[in-house]
Amino acid sequence: MVVIFGPSGLGGIKEAVSNLEKYSKLGIKACEIAFTYGVYIKNDSDIKTIKECAERLGIKLSIHAQYWVNLNSAEKEKVEASKKRILDCLRVGEMLGCYAVVVHPGYYGKMTKEESFENIKKVVLELMEEIRKNKWKVKLCLETMGKINVFGSVDDIKNLVKETGCGFCLDFAHLKARSNGKMSYKQMVKEFSEFKEWHCHFSGIVYGDKGEKHHILTPKKEIEELLKELEAVKNKCNIVIINESPEPLKDSVLSLKMWEEI
Ligand SMILES: [Zn+2]
Repeated sequence: MVVIFGPSGLGGIKEAVSNLEKYSKLGIKACEIAFTYGVYIKNDSDIKTIKECAERLGIKLSIHAQYWVNLNSAEKEKVEASKKRILDCLRVGEMLGCYAVVVHPGYYGKMTKEESFENIKKVVLELMEEIRKNKWKVKLCLETMGKINVFGSVDDIKNLVKETGCGFCLDFAHLKARSNGKMSYKQMVKEFSEFKEWHCHFSGIVYGDKGEKHHILTPKKEIEELLKELEAVKNKCNIVIINESPEPLKDSVLSLKMWEEI
């Protein structure tokens, strides 16, 4: 079992290889490619180059899917368009050798939490079926979200994992914001401790009554607190921590150093 750290962001296609090499020299073992504004790595030779480089350096790649996703939209076309975006990420992710594609599930809108769950579950099951049919190894991971009007509470995500077999992205900062600071890292870790494969997001965060406002640099004290809790589960879980602060590489390296000193 292992805990690895890495930044959100691979950079542009031209810098991808040199960035991975730079990350590797710093001891970084994970990197999340931001397809948040679109799948920007398209051509087969770029895909092959990046895949081979990450493999050679032993860096685990993941993808963050587009922000424009709502699997619970009342408009069918919007759900279909969201599904298509996620499938594009899964297909390219598989070609890149990524192990996970992270997805923001959607909004509650005017629907109840139960209706939202059923709608999102249905689409997630369809996506899981596509993964199975195509024999893809990449995992679809639904993220815990930071705003209270967005689908993605601890229960929302845990129930999806249990009922569809999808993976999860445990965003510690989001859960802190969503609970208005009430949920501790200890509780978050405990909630997910029944699962073995953890894909996580982490950073500092500013929040209010409605939850997340924006991500900030990761305070050292927060890193310390989280690592202490991870120490308790490290023997039974594989954990990937993607840092999403405004300086994700710097904060990943700091987290790694602090982890090694525990
Ligand atoms: Zn996210």
